[in-house]
Amino acid sequence: MQARPAPYLDELNPAQRQAVETLDGPVLMLAGAGTGKTKALTARIVHLLNTGRARPNEILAVTFTNKAAREMKMRVGRMLGETVEGMPWLGTFHSICVKLLRRHAELVDLKSNFTILDTDDQSRLLKQLVQASKIDDKRWPARMLAGIIDDWKNRAITPDRVPASDGGAYNHEGPRLYAEYQARLRELNAVDFGDLLLHMVTIFQRHEDMLGQYQRWFRYILVDEYQDTNVAQYLWLRLLAAGHRNICCVGDDDQSIYGWRGAEVGNILRFEKDFPGAHVVRLEQNYRSTPHILAAASGVISGNQGRLGKTLWTETEEGEKVRLIGHWDGDEEARWVGEEIEAMQRGTRGQRPFSLDEMAILVRASHQMRAFEDRFLTIGLPYRVIGGPRFYERMEIRDAMAYFRLVVSPSDDLAFERIVNTPKRGLGDKAQQTIQRIARENGVSLLDGAALAVEQGEIKGKGAGELGRLVVDLARWGRMTGDADMTHMELAETILDESGYTAMWQNDKTPEAPGRLENLKELVKALENFENLQGFLEHVSLVMDNETDDGGAKVSIMTLHAAKGLEFPAVFLPGWEDGLFPSQRSMDESGLKGLEEERRLAYVGITRAEELCTISFAGNRRVFGQWQSSLPSRFIDELPEAHVDVLTPPGLYGGGYGAAGMGVSSGLEQRATEANVYNSPGWRRLQSRAAERPVSQPRESRNQVIDLDAVSAFTLGERVFHQKFGYGEVIGIEGDKLEVGFEKAGTKKVLARFLSASDD
Ligand code: ATP
Ligand code: MG
Repeated sequence: MQARPAPYLDELNPAQRQAVETLDGPVLMLAGAGTGKTKALTARIVHLLNTGRARPNEILAVTFTNKAAREMKMRVGRMLGETVEGMPWLGTFHSICVKLLRRHAELVDLKSNFTILDTDDQSRLLKQLVQASKIDDKRWPARMLAGIIDDWKNRAITPDRVPASDGGAYNHEGPRLYAEYQARLRELNAVDFGDLLLHMVTIFQRHEDMLGQYQRWFRYILVDEYQDTNVAQYLWLRLLAAGHRNICCVGDDDQSIYGWRGAEVGNILRFEKDFPGAHVVRLEQNYRSTPHILAAASGVISGNQGRLGKTLWTETEEGEKVRLIGHWDGDEEARWVGEEIEAMQRGTRGQRPFSLDEMAILVRASHQMRAFEDRFLTIGLPYRVIGGPRFYERMEIRDAMAYFRLVVSPSDDLAFERIVNTPKRGLGDKAQQTIQRIARENGVSLLDGAALAVEQGEIKGKGAGELGRLVVDLARWGRMTGDADMTHMELAETILDESGYTAMWQNDKTPEAPGRLENLKELVKALENFENLQGFLEHVSLVMDNETDDGGAKVSIMTLHAAKGLEFPAVFLPGWEDGLFPSQRSMDESGLKGLEEERRLAYVGITRAEELCTISFAGNRRVFGQWQSSLPSRFIDELPEAHVDVLTPPGLYGGGYGAAGMGVSSGLEQRATEANVYNSPGWRRLQSRAAERPVSQPRESRNQVIDLDAVSAFTLGERVFHQKFGYGEVIGIEGDKLEVGFEKAGTKKVLARFLSASDD
């Protein structure tokens, strides 16, 4: 075969080229952040196609997120200089397994139109099982059982193989309930997330002939972010690669951040044992970040033990040091970031102008996003949340989806339960129990049980008529899915209208109702991108990233976990405080495991930045409505000083490095002093504010929760205003409760947070 031109090879360094051109046999690329692992993996796909080694549908390529899969497809097309029609097996573990499982569902006693439960459905189902077993779910919450079962599934353990050492799980009921749960899922024709892989591993293990077919079919296997595979994923890959052994895995042990979800960094370290003779390629040149950023990241990660250890170097220009700034509280941090982003957009910070698309905010915990979202909405700064608090998790969206699910799969009992009395149809607990009983007695789905209950006159009164109508409607909508004259968007709208669901929110007088109606509209809009309802439902149950994009430039907000593999010219890393990052949980744990995973997360965060990395922390943060004071993250102490610039607060908002400086460790204090923070007007103002507000806590009591607003806001004799009782005067203070003599309502005890200072 005539060699075709391969310009994509010229873009690679020799080590990358070796990884790309070694097409046969196992290849492991183990290298640090930004060294071009993903780029080389993508080039390898192109090379396989270009050399005619494989057709697009013979390549199995696994990425960590759907977004990464989309990007890889796009890049392959671009490198190849032609559109690749279909790479059906390029996707996440889950999206690939769901496709395979639909083909072979009957081998694990499922029908091919099985439903994929989300975590909420999963917990409801488990709760039912727990309650039916008369277990005290206060002491043994169903959530705990969910965690245990997920863990077993991640380790590819089926109910009949739970190891004896795990027998005591969940008060010794864990193994039995796991088996019951799996049986119940089968009855419901449903799977949860963990099942997608578990079932496929089971099928491959039991059906060698079929495994053989797939082994021959997937001529080449490629896996990105291999350090974050769990045991089930690992087994699945090993089974598929066992024949030809053309498997190429890339990863970085320092970026293993999913241990809490069962990922085993050991998988990558064991690769050479599993695949003897593997070519191991190490990459050392980083093409992403400036030397300062790289040095800061290396400094932090060097605190971990048991690393493989890597040298990274770069030829990029020195650039700016990593910037560090402290703020009074979370809102000021958000405000500062907003202003900074606008300034950087204009290029008034002495750097080149950055477009919004070039900037990202990476948070440790998703609740941190709210402050940024609120702030950006206020100042009209366009942003997108990637993988965030998901649109699809909102109540009205879940209700609507339950209707769709029931139309597509009438035996989806969980969906039925969710909507049978939403909107209200006069079907209380008793009526629902009757339906459950009849369904059980007849061995049918709840929907069929409902039909029987109506027929047999088992449900009385208003409810009977309404339920009868729902049963008939669902059947009718089901038939309409095949109607060529109607788009699935129209069908969705019809379902929401005719079921009375839209009307329910139209008649709802709560302040959230208009927003919910907006969301429902948005949902119907989202359907446009899919061929039918089923395709859409599948997408939603799998999707991790929910980008709605109008094409304009936007700042990205996401969790550090979601940022893996991505890169941005400018990165903001807010909330570097002990208890938030590293998380309280990892700090409370005995041993270093949790803390080391947090440190890897810090490494992932810093190495996302190309040119500018800004780390910040707040001295006070409102957590679940209560103020809590905090200390700068211990990871800040681990940043090598030579590569960090401590920003002097602008004095504008009173924010500043010293904000949390009350009781900080000495190294930090020293750095703050060097930056002359203590003499700045911002610091002095902070100190006087600190004197007014009782926030200055010694280190040992830093986790004590105090309601700042409440305690300090009022003084005896002050004139105040209460929303319900009107004007009055403070006549007594007990903690956060105040005694107020109201002009109209008389003397009352009220909570301070419901009062405001009267300004007349
Ligand atoms: P991570 O560990 O964060 O996933 P990675 O090793 O996968 O990083 P890539 O994302 O593939 O790294 O590459 C990082 C950046 O370096 C990208 O912008 C990529 O285009 C660029 N790059 C990679 N290899 C080269 C090269 N040989 N020449 C020039 N640029 C390169
Ligand atoms: Mg990568």
